[in-house]
Amino acid sequence: MASMMFTDCSSSTTSRLFHLNRRNGTSLLRQCVGQLRFQTTASGRGCIRSSSSPISAISADTKSEGVATVIDGKAVAKKIRDEITVEVSRMKESIGVVPGLAVILVGDRKDSATYVRNKKKACDSVGIKSFEVCVAEDSSEEEVLRSVSGFNDDPSVHGILVQLPLPSHMDEQNILNAVSIEKDVDGFHPLNIGRLAMRGREPLFVPCTPKGCIELLHRYNIGIKGKRAVVIGRSNIVGMPAALLLQREDATVTIIHSRTKNPEEITREADIIISAVGQANMVRGSWIKPGAVIIDVGINPVEDSSAARGYRLVGDICYEEASKVASAITPVPGGVGPMTIAMLLSNTLKSAKRIHNFQ
Ligand code: NAP
Repeated sequence: MASMMFTDCSSSTTSRLFHLNRRNGTSLLRQCVGQLRFQTTASGRGCIRSSSSPISAISADTKSEGVATVIDGKAVAKKIRDEITVEVSRMKESIGVVPGLAVILVGDRKDSATYVRNKKKACDSVGIKSFEVCVAEDSSEEEVLRSVSGFNDDPSVHGILVQLPLPSHMDEQNILNAVSIEKDVDGFHPLNIGRLAMRGREPLFVPCTPKGCIELLHRYNIGIKGKRAVVIGRSNIVGMPAALLLQREDATVTIIHSRTKNPEEITREADIIISAVGQANMVRGSWIKPGAVIIDVGINPVEDSSAARGYRLVGDICYEEASKVASAITPVPGGVGPMTIAMLLSNTLKSAKRIHNFQ
C-alpha cells in the first residue's frame, strides 16, 4: 500500500504518512497510551484531570478563550475501567458469574497478535475472563465459523470478537454475521446497527469507538441536544454509527465524506465535530467555529526522525491550530483511543449482566 505525503500543520515541513491497519477499533491503543502528552490551559480550567476529580461542564456555545480544554480520554478510560472492576467483582460475589470475552485470531499477522494480547491484558486488569482461539492463515472459513459457533454456545462467554482483518479467502461479512447478536460486543451485527438507526429501538450493543466518543462528551458534561454536529467520515465502524448516536441525542447532524463539496464551510458551522477520516491534520484551524468541541478519532502515523520508532501519531485535526479556536479537544494519542477498549470491556460486562439478568 502506498504512503502519502501530508503537510504537518505543526511546522512548515512535510511529513510522510505511514499506512497502518485501521480496521480494528482497538488497534493502535498501546502506542497511543505510551506517547501521551498533555497541555495546560491558559485559563487554568485544568487539562490534566485525575480520575477522581469532577469534570466541569464545557459548552459548545462558549467562545474560546484561546486555548482549548483537553478532553483526557486516558483519564476517563481509567475511571471507566475502575467502575467495571467494581461491577465485575460485585457480579462474581453475588451470583458467581465472571464475564467472559472470546477473541478469534485468524492467521499470524503480528499487529493482530499484539491487539489480541492487549485485549487479553485489558480483560485481566478488570477481572473479565478472556478466551482465545488462533486459527491458521490457510484454514477454511468453515473452521472459523465452527469457532464462532462454539463460543456462541458457550455459557461462560458473553462477548465474541473476530479480530480483523481476515485472510482474503474468507468472507468477512459471513463470519461477522455468524456471531450471536446477544454476544456481538463489537456492535457490528446489522441488526444492532439497524436498531441504532431506528427510533424507538434499542441496539444490544453500540460499536466501541463511536460509543467512546459520546461517552467523552457525556463525562465532560458537553450538551449535545439541539447542537449542530458534523461527523467527518462515514465508515461502518466509526463515522456512520457516531452520526446515528449524535442524532439519537437530538443533535442536528451533517456527515462529510470524500465526495462532499465545501467540507470546510460545513464544518465551520458545527458546535461539535467528530472526525474519523484517517488523513493527518486534514482539518485546519480555519475550519473550526470558535468554541466548538472536537473529538478526533483519526490515528495517523507521520514520519518523525526524533521519535524512537521513527514516527509519531497525529489525528485528523491540526491540533496546534484547532486548540486555539475550539473550547475542548481530544488529543491524539490519549483521546478516543483509550476509550475504545474501555467500551469493549463495558459492552462485555453489559452482555454478561443481560444474559444473567443481573442488575
Ligand atoms: P475508513 O473506513 O477508511 O473511512 C474513512 C472515511 O473518511 C470514509 O467515509 C471516507 O469517505 C472519509 N474520507 C476520506 N477522505 C476524506 C476527505 N478528504 N474528506 C472527507 N472525508 C474523507 O476509516 P475508519 O475505519 O472509519 O477510521 C478513520 C480513522 O479513525 C483512522 O485514522 C483510524 O485509524 C481511526 N480509528 C481510530 C480508532 C480509535 O480507537 N481511536 C478506532 C477506529 C478507527 P468515503 O466514504 O467517501 O470513502
